[in-house]
Amino acid sequence: MTNIRGNWNYPTTVWAGPGRLEEIAAACTRAGMTRPLIVTDAGLATHAMTARCSELLGGAAVFADVAGNPSAAHVEKGLRAYRLGHHDGVVALGGGAALDTGKVVAFMSGQTRPLWDFEDIGDWWTRADSAGIAPIVAIPTTAGTGSEVGRAGVILNEETHQKKIIFHPLMMPKVVILDPELTIGLPRHVTAATGLDAFVHCFEAYCAPGFHPMAEGIALEGMRLVAEYLPRACQNGQDLEARAQMLAAASMGATAFQKGLGGVHAIAHPVGSWFNTHHGLTNAVILPYVMCHNRHAISDRCARIARVLGLADTSFDGLLAWVLALRTELGIPHTLAEIGVDDRNADVIGRESALDPSAGGNPIAIDAAGYEAIFRDAIAGRMPAAA
Ligand SMILES: [Zn+2]
Repeated sequence: MTNIRGNWNYPTTVWAGPGRLEEIAAACTRAGMTRPLIVTDAGLATHAMTARCSELLGGAAVFADVAGNPSAAHVEKGLRAYRLGHHDGVVALGGGAALDTGKVVAFMSGQTRPLWDFEDIGDWWTRADSAGIAPIVAIPTTAGTGSEVGRAGVILNEETHQKKIIFHPLMMPKVVILDPELTIGLPRHVTAATGLDAFVHCFEAYCAPGFHPMAEGIALEGMRLVAEYLPRACQNGQDLEARAQMLAAASMGATAFQKGLGGVHAIAHPVGSWFNTHHGLTNAVILPYVMCHNRHAISDRCARIARVLGLADTSFDGLLAWVLALRTELGIPHTLAEIGVDDRNADVIGRESALDPSAGGNPIAIDAAGYEAIFRDAIAGRMPAAA
């Protein structure tokens, strides 16, 4: 097995390798916290790794009231627990929902303005009191979101049914632990869905317009790692090397998408808000539909990706065929209908997709009607014609 242990210093301090959860106390010290609150999701509340984390931190308190698509109410409850326990930092442990909630709790802990004042619009983040942002240590237990190296949290506004991005540069965790032993127990379908989310992050970042060769280099290697190791991690969940490489790929995806995302995420966000679907799974279903719509704008880029992946057919169609085959191999449904999505609110989904911050990263502009058409195609399983 190749070496899967290392310490990295960008985009933040990352300690990668099997068994490194045991270094959590040192990570908290390095991040400058002495009374951390562990934020995790309901599913991990009674899990052995949560208990071990608390034990290593001298019996640290655990807040586990976090749902799959966390809302402002979850953040509010987390903040109450944080203040009640006089904590001075957050250990965010779990999948994207727990990481995002933990990060936003740490961010909000010393703010006086309401949460939605810090939505990722223009320079709204400068409204925040930087001194009121508590340090964060992030420990992902899925390999997909990459939120552990992101500077934002996605929180659902239940009143408007919209997922909002709360952003501040200081939401970047001070220390990240990428311990593949924590992802060993992930069921196959969660491994597949989250792993494909990492792929979509890299893919959309690579195809987003703008000058950012650094992000593009990370994105290309991230996609190569997913192509090589996601099938292995799905075939054998105990494959520690595949698990370690997928954790790296997930962190690389989120690092790359500082360049931008695109139409897949623009649609997946409102679909997740309205239908409570799994984020990674939603992206995995939608990806080929948006690829086809964007075809003319991304054919050169797709050829480059196909070469990096070592495909025999290094054309747009070759990459598309590979994506479709990978989805099938990993048990991802072909249509949104199969994951419980219908077209009742298709016009609303179209409008909100066009307004989603991710839409700005799509290689071609798509209006509300265009997004609605792609959404309907993804429900029905029709490949859209290229725009
Ligand atoms: Zn995503």
